[in-house]
Amino acid sequence: MEPTEFRRHGHAVVDWIADYLEAPEKWPVLPDVRPGDLRNALPASPPLSGESMDVVLADFRKLIVPATTHWNHPAFMAYFANSSTGEGVLGEALTAALNVNAMLWRTGPAATELELLTLDWFRQMLGLPDSFFGVIGDTASSNTLYALAAARELHPELGIREHGMSGRPDLPRLVVYCSEEAHSSVDKAVMTLGIGLSGLRKIPTDEKLRMDANALAVAIEKDRKAGSIPLAVVATVGTTGTTSIDPVREIADLCKHEKLWLHVDASYGGTAAILPEMRYVLDGCDGAHSLVVNPHKWLFTPMDCSVLYTSRPDLLKRAFQHVADYLVVIEGADVVNLMDYGIALGRRFRALKLWFVIRGFGVEGLRSLIREHIRIAKALAKWIDDDPTLERMSDVNFSTVLFRHRPPKMREDELDLHNESILQKLNGARKVYLSHTRVRGRYALRIAIGNIHTTEDDVRVALDLVREAAKA
Ligand SMILES: *Cc1c(COP(=O)(O)O)cnc(C)c1O
Repeated sequence: MEPTEFRRHGHAVVDWIADYLEAPEKWPVLPDVRPGDLRNALPASPPLSGESMDVVLADFRKLIVPATTHWNHPAFMAYFANSSTGEGVLGEALTAALNVNAMLWRTGPAATELELLTLDWFRQMLGLPDSFFGVIGDTASSNTLYALAAARELHPELGIREHGMSGRPDLPRLVVYCSEEAHSSVDKAVMTLGIGLSGLRKIPTDEKLRMDANALAVAIEKDRKAGSIPLAVVATVGTTGTTSIDPVREIADLCKHEKLWLHVDASYGGTAAILPEMRYVLDGCDGAHSLVVNPHKWLFTPMDCSVLYTSRPDLLKRAFQHVADYLVVIEGADVVNLMDYGIALGRRFRALKLWFVIRGFGVEGLRSLIREHIRIAKALAKWIDDDPTLERMSDVNFSTVLFRHRPPKMREDELDLHNESILQKLNGARKVYLSHTRVRGRYALRIAIGNIHTTEDDVRVALDLVREAAKA
C-alpha cells in the first residue's frame, strides 16, 4: 500500500474506531444473523487481483460489523463482559506495525523488556510477591496448561520431559485437583498433558461453592494410598459460573505440606485485587507456584492478553526450553528469551497495549472503574433482593450477579424451564445480552458487569427487561 493511500485509509479507520468506541450502542448487542449468513454474503473464492481498500472497508461496514456480537456494547453482560479502549487499540495498532517476533531477547529487546517490566508493574498493582515472574500468553486456558506442565517438573525423577508418559508401566498415575466449580480449561489441560480426565479430581464445595479443603486433604491421602502421585491443585479466585473464591491460604498450606504445585486461576477475579479494599481476594496467593489473570477480561485491554505469574520460572523453563541450533544466542544465560516459557516460539508484542492501558488510565483510573463496577453489582443485588418475584442465587463477590425469576408456587423443575425461556426471549430481542449458569443444578440468570461503557442505568434497564420477559 502506498504511504499516501495508507494515510488516507488509516485516517478513515481511526475515525471509524473513534465513532464506534464513542457509541457502540449504535449497533444491537447481538446481531440479527443466522449461522452461514455472513459466509453466504461473501465470495467463496479469493480475488485474483487486488481490490481497492475503499471497497474492502465498505464491506467491513456493510457486512462484517452487522454480523458482529458487540462485546463493547454497554448492554453486553453475558459471560465476563470486557471492553476495548482507545489506549488498547493504539497499542495494538503499533504492535501490528512493528510486527516484532519476540522469541529471543535479540529479536525483540523492547518487547521482551517491556513485557517483564509491565508485568512487574501489574504484579505490584495486585500486591503479589516480588519473587513472581510474569509472562504474557494468549489465554488463561493456555497459561493453565503451561502451569500444569511446569508442575510435572517438580518431579524430575519421573523423567517426563525425556521419556513422556505413554508406554511406561513404571509411571504411577499423576493426579490434579480442582473444585467442582473450576473452569473447563483445567479439564482440557489434563486431557492435553497425558494426565487424562480420570487423573482429575473434582473436589466438592461448601455452601458458598468454595473448594472444601478437608475433602481435598482426604482425596490426596486416598490417592497416595492407591500409589498415585498427587501433582497439583488448581484453586480458583472468582469461578466462572458463580464467582466463588476458594480458600487459597488453607489450600496453599496443604500444598506446601504435601509438596504439590498450587496454580491459582484468577482469570477474572484477580483484577479486583488492584483495589486496596479488595486485595483480600488474593489472600494466600503468595504461597502459589503460579497464578493466571486476564487483562483482556476486566482490565480494558483488547483480546488477547493473559498473564501467567510463577514463583518457579526455573521449572516453567525446564518444561519448555528446547533450543534448536539456529536459535542459539550469544547473550548468555542472564538474558530472558521468552520462547523458553511456553509452547509458542513466535510471540506477539502483547505488552505494548497493556503498558498503554496502565499508563493511559493510571492505577487510580483503573481502580475507580473496577470500584464502580462492583458498586453497580451491589446495587443490582439490592434491587433483586427487594423484589419478591426475584431470587438471588449467590453472593456478589465481584461484579457478577446470579438470580432467577420466581413466581409464587412454581416448582423447582418448572423454575428452570421458566428462567431458560426468559433468557431466550431476552436475548432474542437483542437489547441486552445475558448468559446463564447452574447453581447446584438450578438454572440461574447471570449479569456480569465489566464493560467500560456499562452504567448503573444500563443495568437497571437490563433488569427491567428481565421482568418484562418474565411477565410475557
Ligand atoms: C474466562 C476464564 C477462563 C478462560 O479464559 P481464556 O483466557 O478465555 O482461556 C479460565 N478460568 C476462569 C475462572 C475464567 O473466568
